[in-house]
Amino acid sequence: NSMNAQQVRQQFLSYFESKGHKVVASSGLIPFDDPTLLFTNAGMNQFKNIFLGNEKRDYNRAATAQKCVRAGGKHNDLENVGVTARHHTFFEMLGNFSFGDYFKREAIEYAWEFITEVMKLDRSRLWVSVFREDDEALAIWRDHIGVPAERILRCGEKDNFWQMGETGPCGPCSEIHYDQGPDVPCTEGGPCGVECECDRYLEIWNLVFMQYDRQPDGTLVPLPKPSIDTGMGLERLAAVVQGETSNYHTDLFLPLLNRIAADCGMTYTRSASHQDVSMRVIADHLRASTFLISDGAIPSNEGRGYVLRRIMRRAMRHANQLGKKEPYMYSLVCLMEEHYGEAFPEIVKNRAMVEEIIYQEERRFANTLDHGLAILEEMVAGLQKSAQVALDGQSAFKLYDTYGFPLDLTVDILEDRGITVDEAGFYAAMEEQKVRARASWKAVASVTSSEDLRLIESRHQQEFSGYDFLSAKASVI
Ligand code: ATP
Ligand code: MG
Ligand code: MG
Ligand code: MG
Repeated sequence: NSMNAQQVRQQFLSYFESKGHKVVASSGLIPFDDPTLLFTNAGMNQFKNIFLGNEKRDYNRAATAQKCVRAGGKHNDLENVGVTARHHTFFEMLGNFSFGDYFKREAIEYAWEFITEVMKLDRSRLWVSVFREDDEALAIWRDHIGVPAERILRCGEKDNFWQMGETGPCGPCSEIHYDQGPDVPCTEGGPCGVECECDRYLEIWNLVFMQYDRQPDGTLVPLPKPSIDTGMGLERLAAVVQGETSNYHTDLFLPLLNRIAADCGMTYTRSASHQDVSMRVIADHLRASTFLISDGAIPSNEGRGYVLRRIMRRAMRHANQLGKKEPYMYSLVCLMEEHYGEAFPEIVKNRAMVEEIIYQEERRFANTLDHGLAILEEMVAGLQKSAQVALDGQSAFKLYDTYGFPLDLTVDILEDRGITVDEAGFYAAMEEQKVRARASWKAVASVTSSEDLRLIESRHQQEFSGYDFLSAKASVI
């Protein structure tokens, strides 16, 4: 099967269009109107108010290919990137939605028809899971669709009861998994089964049967009309359709990986080597940075901007390891435009701005990265001399405060060496410094930097006014 990702996305949207769904554009990654959400992390986010019954549209079925980022907050896949073959910080979620229209039976029928008839996935590799108590969904899969009973599993709340946050729409769900076969090692260390969260039994699609609105006190209030929310990772589906066992080996990533390899005078070999992992991290983080900046995020020291900074600095450290000591990531933005520009015109429109912001962040960090790495080496040598396996919080804080190393960057670097970091100690050191700063800055404490940042962020979102604004911003942060 030679379908590329672009075609997979298109087939998905036209399939659901043919079933009476309105194809709705992806919303941006920064949910400016929802303080409970760090970044858009699922297709349903933009429909939250419809699900809650607070808003009506002129359609009650929709389909989207939604930009998502899961690199902080409730869903954080940052640490998985490079390790698993299926997680990204940025990915596209294909979804179909029913707002009080069809429910479980049609949702299951559509999903099954799409993956078996349109995508032509091998039925004998497909497994499904349902929520423990959801006899209704189980019966539909077994009796109506005809999935063999032994390939339907009843699962618990953790994976089969979906909720958007502490409060809000929720309900039981049913997942579709694709068995990639015994050659794909269990990333969880086995013994492996479909209930295992691993790369072998790849979760491709999650169908949420939205029936409740969870209240702040935890109670479940039935929604006015039950609804459907589904999500399927485009990168995972493309991998399965293309017969690849890693998302990174689809047409969405390989051109990027090959280009990074060529730039570093290396070859990408699809392995678990440090080099290949670094290339995957760079490719993933480049996508996330490009889309986040294009949607209005800027690297900073708190909130959303800090998550972006962490992603960017982690990528820069990996580039540094591949020998790229000068700003490099910004030079890959043109590839992003080449490969994603058609589906995401905003990337084309904002390209110059994205390049500039990445370049500036790279410049800023290049100044301290090498020095910080050298200091870190000294710290490691000191630890090894005294046979210690944990870096103290003060040292980790020094790397943060003086050299701009986010905590997770230090953790990431030391992990390979079998050294852990005293994270509680890190936060204690940070708190201590804040107290000290407060004591000495009492007089000027009235202007909070977070307020400034919000202003900058919203201005950035509204204007995209190019270089003048960029240089002004660089001096603010
Ligand atoms: P997993 O268990 O593999 O982490 P999930 O259960 O957290 O996935 P859902 O919240 O159910 O994922 O999201 C719906 C779909 O989005 C998943 O079935 C998967 O296809 C895709 N998806 C989720 N997280 C990622 C990610 N980090 N990168 C790529 N695709 C993802
Ligand atoms: Mg997950
Ligand atoms: Mg899951
Ligand atoms: Mg899931």
